Amino acid sequence: MTGIAVKGLSKRWGETFAVRDVSFSVEPGSFAVLLGPSGCGKSTLLRLISGLETASAGSIEIGSKDVTARPPAERDLAMVFQSYALFPHLSVAENILFGLKVRKTSKPEQADRLAHVADLLGLSGLLERRPSQLSGGQQQRVALGRAIIAEKPICLMDEPLSNLDAKLRHEMRVEIRALQRKLGMTMLYVTHDQAEAMGMANRIILLKDGAIEQDATPAETYGRPATSFAGRFIGTPPMNVLALSWESGGLRIKGTGTALLNGIPETALTAGIRPEDIALDAASPHRAQVETIEYLGADTLIDCRIGNERLTVRARSADGLAPGAEIGLSWPRTALHLFDAASGTRRDDLLNGAGG
Ligand code: ADP
Repeated sequence: MTGIAVKGLSKRWGETFAVRDVSFSVEPGSFAVLLGPSGCGKSTLLRLISGLETASAGSIEIGSKDVTARPPAERDLAMVFQSYALFPHLSVAENILFGLKVRKTSKPEQADRLAHVADLLGLSGLLERRPSQLSGGQQQRVALGRAIIAEKPICLMDEPLSNLDAKLRHEMRVEIRALQRKLGMTMLYVTHDQAEAMGMANRIILLKDGAIEQDATPAETYGRPATSFAGRFIGTPPMNVLALSWESGGLRIKGTGTALLNGIPETALTAGIRPEDIALDAASPHRAQVETIEYLGADTLIDCRIGNERLTVRARSADGLAPGAEIGLSWPRTALHLFDAASGTRRDDLLNGAGG
């Protein structure tokens, strides 16, 4: 199996860096996701690795071989794009076989591989159809088929599910993950959808403004976000990030009279608390006013004001509450995340010495 290692990779257009000094590796046979908001450099990074763009600086290794200066054809990888780019005048079978025909693979081998891929993807009954006679999910499967029939050790995918509706996206997520495991492929997958990344990845490489914000497992990224940006990008609704004031050794949520933490040196900080870590607690000294209530079925989102700050609570129910009500809120000490107010960097070092 083959892995990918990227070192100090940058891509610049004029004065603007689309990718800035990025280093990471993808373990052989694992599923890594490049995640981040639109414009953060995900596609550029994938295009650099595939060889469709040339790097301004840095190196790319595929299977321990430096391919930085090699053309795409010598990188031994398959790629699936957001637009399926199927040929409308060719049948499903011809679309899937296109690459093998170009490479002049023998006819019996083509037939063998086609039967195998069609079987894997549930396309056996559709091989004679044209793309226009398929649903969105089926077209996506054909695009996948075209990528996996090449039997490359590495597959790069750029937002392959963004044209599908929510239910189908979920189904295809599960299918792609199962297929990747079954074939033992090394996968590098681009998305802006954190749920997709959380559900599929062994490792999430979170990008912001062309640089890596955090490179960790989904559980680490959720549980110990490296920055306030990572805290807000992962999880729905996003982590509450509250402005703090410092008064006589105590940190308070801005505009409140109750200390959040004591014994912290005076530093400009924000506090992160996930909506699902907050409990309604009538006896708590942390008082908030309910602003809006959104019933979602399995749970309810309660938007509140606490001091000068807004905060969302995810509760099982909001029975008996209405906008304007005063409520008490509590959270376990371990649910508090402290971040530097200016840089957004996580400050666990301060939490260790603090009192409750
Ligand atoms: P993402 O995939 O995360 O949405 P991209 O990699 O497409 O982001 O783009 C990253 C940044 O690089 C953006 O600011 C984008 O405008 C810029 N960019 C991408 N391609 C080019 C190009 N060919 N020329 C100039 N700037 C580009």
